[in-house]
Amino acid sequence: MSPDSVHTALYARHRAVMPDWLATYYRAPIELTHGEGRHVQDAEGRRYLDFFGGILTTMTAHALPEVTRAVAAQAGRVLHSSTLYLSRTAVELAERVARLSGIPDARVFFTSSGTEATDTALLLATAHRRSNQVLALRNSYHGRSFSAVGVTGNSAWSPTSLSPLQTYYVHGGVRTRGPFAHLTDAEFTAACVADLEDVLGQTAGPVAALIAEPVQGVGGFTSPPDGLLAAFRRVLDRHGILWISDEVQTGWGRTGDHFWGWQAHAQAGPPDLLTFAKGLGNGLSIGGVVARAEVMNCLTAGSISTFGGSPVTTAGALANLTYLLEHDLQGNARRVGGLLLTRLRAVAAGSPLVREVRGRGLMIALELVRPGTGEPWGAAATEVLEAAREGGLLLGKGGREGNVLRIAPPLTLTVAEAEQGAAILAAALDRAGRRLDEEAVR
Ligand code: PMP
Repeated sequence: MSPDSVHTALYARHRAVMPDWLATYYRAPIELTHGEGRHVQDAEGRRYLDFFGGILTTMTAHALPEVTRAVAAQAGRVLHSSTLYLSRTAVELAERVARLSGIPDARVFFTSSGTEATDTALLLATAHRRSNQVLALRNSYHGRSFSAVGVTGNSAWSPTSLSPLQTYYVHGGVRTRGPFAHLTDAEFTAACVADLEDVLGQTAGPVAALIAEPVQGVGGFTSPPDGLLAAFRRVLDRHGILWISDEVQTGWGRTGDHFWGWQAHAQAGPPDLLTFAKGLGNGLSIGGVVARAEVMNCLTAGSISTFGGSPVTTAGALANLTYLLEHDLQGNARRVGGLLLTRLRAVAAGSPLVREVRGRGLMIALELVRPGTGEPWGAAATEVLEAAREGGLLLGKGGREGNVLRIAPPLTLTVAEAEQGAAILAAALDRAGRRLDEEAVR
């Protein structure tokens, strides 16, 4: 059998035993077998520059030797997991994360995913406030569990409308369409605050929390104007409502100017709760919640997590975080991300498919539309993704209509790699545009 048919056979087996609702971005999904730096290799031996690794949890670099060594050393000593036992690496990592969080008197609870971090934050906030009423932003994504789906406003990723929570969705996440599309930042902020006040006027009894991504990830890298969350905070404070900042995509310096996404809204002060996941483990499954002690310790019975903060994942995460800080990868995200944004804006100027290039640091999106009508065009994103893959570049997809290309490379991306990726993307936009034209004629 040729490698290609081995791969096709694997996909057939995948579809035969795994659920239909498991999403893949490519027509023939890729099996990754190797990774190094900013590159990965698939089962057919093709090499790709990885412009989406940051979201696939590879925050610093693929196969970072420091992380591999730390994991192997810990696994060789003891490979167990339970929060019933002390772990030196978990304590050290919690000390680091607590200090970095900006939250006073911070306590850290480790989980094994972002979804579980969302769940834990909601558990804490609802228990602390004794209310199951929560606020979330329209177009949001916070995970796939029963409660996380209940605060996920992006209907493409919210497969059931049932929820243990009473959720009110407020404006603030996206304004590329709808009645707010043409407002200035100040007008949009005022409209969102009025909307929040209006919603709070309709709730019965206390509201536990507002959960918000400082930059909506799955939603298509859309940011509320800087300061909007500070304006929200003033309203929340009047009602005693807690603010949960979901930093699963925005944390650890990815946005370049800030270590956390919430810091773009600095006058909001630190959030009451902060959730993280993905990047911290550089591929290992780790997430968590930071909260003030008073909130973290509000539960009335014990709560444990078998895999949360296991010695192996925290050893790897500690090595990864150390590397990130010692090599100033936030600064690299700012510098290389700024350059990439400029290059991509130049590329977009030559393509009728691109309505907007937006981003911060190494978190950049291209929004694709149908030329002429300006309607969101999901099929174009699929076509560009395929063409980029043929050119040796992996991208992500997002946005409610699936029409946004998402770029979030490992934070060690070099200038040469940024330029190479921009060139591949320019060619892919061109090729995809021609294919879409040909299809329209047929
Ligand atoms: N919050 C945000 C902002 C996310 O982007 C994601 C994952 N895409 C999650 C939560 C859930 O994380 P996980 O997939 O690790 O459960």
